[in-house]
Amino acid sequence: MENWDIIIIGAGAAGMLSAISASREKLDILVLERNEKAGKKILITGKGRCNITNMKSWNEFSLHIHPSPRLLKPAFFTFTNQDTRDFFESLGLNTVVERGTRLFPVSGKSSDVVESLTKCLTQNGTTIKFNSRVTEIKTQGQNITSISWNKKGIKKSAGCKALIIATGGLSYPSTGSDGDGYNFAKALGHTISPLFPSLTALMPRNYDIRLKGLLLKNIGISLLLSGVDVQNDTGEVEFTDAGIEGSLGYRVSRKAVRAIINGEKVSVVFDLKPALTVDQILNRAEREQKAGNCRNIAQLLGLLLPSRLVIPFAEHSKLKPDGRIDNRESLALLASALKKWTFEIKDFRSYDRAVITAGGINTGEVSAKNMKSRLFDNLFFAGEILDLDGDTGGYNLQIAFSTGYLAGREAAHLINTSNSAEVK
Ligand SMILES: Cc1cc2nc3c(=O)[nH]c(=O)nc-3n(C[C@H](O)[C@H](O)[C@H](O)COP(=O)(O)OP(=O)(O)OC[C@H]3O[C@@H](n4cnc5c(N)ncnc54)[C@H](O)[C@@H]3O)c2cc1C
Repeated sequence: MENWDIIIIGAGAAGMLSAISASREKLDILVLERNEKAGKKILITGKGRCNITNMKSWNEFSLHIHPSPRLLKPAFFTFTNQDTRDFFESLGLNTVVERGTRLFPVSGKSSDVVESLTKCLTQNGTTIKFNSRVTEIKTQGQNITSISWNKKGIKKSAGCKALIIATGGLSYPSTGSDGDGYNFAKALGHTISPLFPSLTALMPRNYDIRLKGLLLKNIGISLLLSGVDVQNDTGEVEFTDAGIEGSLGYRVSRKAVRAIINGEKVSVVFDLKPALTVDQILNRAEREQKAGNCRNIAQLLGLLLPSRLVIPFAEHSKLKPDGRIDNRESLALLASALKKWTFEIKDFRSYDRAVITAGGINTGEVSAKNMKSRLFDNLFFAGEILDLDGDTGGYNLQIAFSTGYLAGREAAHLINTSNSAEVK
């Protein structure tokens, strides 16, 4: 049986950073990847452009990490967002900050990110075996001793001194992450905090498919759980075949999905004119009406909303499109409808289209300072498999890079320490 210093399961963002970081110590490192190539999920990130990280300071960055940024903090400070940027730049990948703090490759191609990572891996002497799906992990006492995988129907095994599990979550299973890592962890005695899809589409009750394709910018959103307002934000929302998406939809999806699973009543309320009060909308409506710019509800809405939205919005808000606007009462109804366009949410889109899996390896069972399992002496976890997830904006890849880097470094350190103890 072949023997390796470190075996890493998964050649995604976390697995590749683990290998790159561990390989600085000149050890024998094997990465096993079930796909025919590395980084399949990275290829589809940021709509093919890959939002590599977010350049916010930790104080702000950590507000976008769930359920608790504490598990990430030591990893983040070991390999920060600036380190991520410097690392890719050192590999020749030029980067650019867009929309405030989001980092992208200048080329706008996620394939360039994958190419940089794989090139760095092979240059560092790491061995990657593709089409190799890990099926079993063997242990002795508190140690992982060997693992087995399946390559084109043939079972293979190898011994290792340390193992890093970086198999991702459950989202977009077509990229290779379909939950194997959770099963390995459970078989090893770890507990998994409840898993659920996040950064995903929310499906309203009686969804009006005429809204599909509509993108609304600079609007407000409130999330109501059992009638209580729990989250407010502004930004853009996109209505798609799957329901409410876009950055605003995704931002509230974490709490919304969990509440739907728990049987709570979930609603989202859009404020289509967040910069105006009801009175200001009312005054504008009166001005437009008096100036003769509109004669009914539909015409007035046409001055305030994208034309495609006018009829669906009027019907949804129980406003008659041909209704009169020459009295303050109907104008007041219209103004408050614009501030409170309400949808009851009945469902959410599952892992086939969710950006991220929330939940994962119980945080109490992994040490934040080195990503090591508290149950085994030579087992580490990195990336989405952990009970750590971020908002949209580059936070999730940074979680994978930081935890991967720390796990790789610490696995290498463990081996070096035990090697030098053996020499003595
Ligand atoms: C559509 C989409 C867009 C996204 N956009 C962004 C973005 O722009 N910015 C951002 O920060 N985040 C983004 N994310 C999230 C981000 O891609 C993930 O959080 C991150 O890639 C997770 O990295 P990972 O290495 O933990 O897992 P993965 O990337 O899922 O890698 C796990 C790897 O393990 C392999 N594997 C699994 N089981 C086995 C097994 N038994 N044996 C061998 N190999 C196995 C898989 O094939 C896979 O290659 C996006 C996600 C999606 C789905």
